[in-house]
Amino acid sequence: MVSAVVGANWGDEGKGKITDMLSEESDIIVRFQGGSNAGHTIVNDYGKFALHILPSGVFCDHTVSVIGNGVALNIPDLFEEIQGIVDRGVPMPEIRVSDRAQIVMPYHILFDQYEEERLGGRSFGSTKSGIAPFYSDKYAKTGIQVSELFDEDSLREKMEGICEKKNVMLEHLYHKPLLKVDELMETLAEYRQKVEPHVCDVSAFLYEANRQGKRILLEGQLGSLKDPDHGIYPMVTSSSTLAGYGAIGAGIPPYEIKRIVTVVKAYSSAVGAGEFVSEIFGEEADELRRRGGDGGEYGATTGRPRRMGWFDAVASRYGCRIQGATEVALTVLDVLGYLDELPVCVGYEIDGKITKDFPSTRELKKAKPVYEVLPGWKSEIRGITEYGELPENCRKYIEFIERELEMPVKMVSNGPGRHEIIHR
Ligand code: GDP
Repeated sequence: MVSAVVGANWGDEGKGKITDMLSEESDIIVRFQGGSNAGHTIVNDYGKFALHILPSGVFCDHTVSVIGNGVALNIPDLFEEIQGIVDRGVPMPEIRVSDRAQIVMPYHILFDQYEEERLGGRSFGSTKSGIAPFYSDKYAKTGIQVSELFDEDSLREKMEGICEKKNVMLEHLYHKPLLKVDELMETLAEYRQKVEPHVCDVSAFLYEANRQGKRILLEGQLGSLKDPDHGIYPMVTSSSTLAGYGAIGAGIPPYEIKRIVTVVKAYSSAVGAGEFVSEIFGEEADELRRRGGDGGEYGATTGRPRRMGWFDAVASRYGCRIQGATEVALTVLDVLGYLDELPVCVGYEIDGKITKDFPSTRELKKAKPVYEVLPGWKSEIRGITEYGELPENCRKYIEFIERELEMPVKMVSNGPGRHEIIHR
């Protein structure tokens, strides 16, 4: 049985916490897209961790952690992260890396930086971890697959071709130092040595595991609105953030993904540029940012302050639909206990017409939020474990959101810890 944990919003919905929690009842946790660009924050018995590339299941000693073929594999980051958790007392996890995963090269990171520099004010707000240049190369068929590390002669030949082309850009567009084939080959030899013990035919491994009735959990990075096809293009990420892509990025049959837990945050936050209809500013935003998440809403990778907004039912319903959600986990609800009133964006006004459908970017740029205001509950809800014990106005907020999403809210997260969850 295969389940997925994915985000309905702009990312940072708390997927890491939900994955960490569900990993207790899983055998295998798989990352299937993205790279070490975004972060998941996890609080459990070992402490507080920010993971970037490891699946959030690494803290359970009975699970296998898998890096699927769809991931942008940054090998130094992966091994630094493993060392980092082991140094803090977490048992050495069992890690499998797909032989078909492609490698983030040092030049991908440089090109990401150089391009953002070149664009200046028009930049994408990239985390500069090489993700866009990596996926560009993958689809231009000039990427390096893990399997290619094991054939040095053809790898050198390929590297020579890559350097020839990239050096033209480096010299004439960016005016930066050129790439050297010998240096890159040395780096790749180091990568091979590190990754070799973990390399695996992941789709064959998962096929067999599934046949044996193992519980497989796919962990998504970012959220629906950052998907390159269905999100706020071009302010999106470079790989699909949708559960459906799990079939491709892990190599499993699409019909095996039975449960799609879609994580929705009880208010909105976003990092980087892009359309954000229910965004709020000033003191109102500062207060929500300060109180938000676990110790404030700041990027797990960059430390950048996140943009804040009220709950956007239009974007979230779309986000759930495009994920194919089978259930919703509503997170960080505890943060909202200070508010007298909670505005919820229930429609977009575009050219004088109100819609509940999330449009393409060109239309979205014109959208103004239409709010409905709900009363606050003015109390602390952390520590509550039964749905019926939540304050009435808090239940009303959840049930209102549930009606807007047209999707059952089966879990309500009321704190960052693994067991701070209310099942309905
Ligand atoms: P992810 O990328 O979707 O995993 O999200 P992040 O880890 O970037 O952001 C979620 C933040 O909210 C983290 O700091 C979590 O520890 C925290 N968090 C998750 N669920 C809850 C919750 O229910 N309540 C509170 N207060 N914090 C939460």
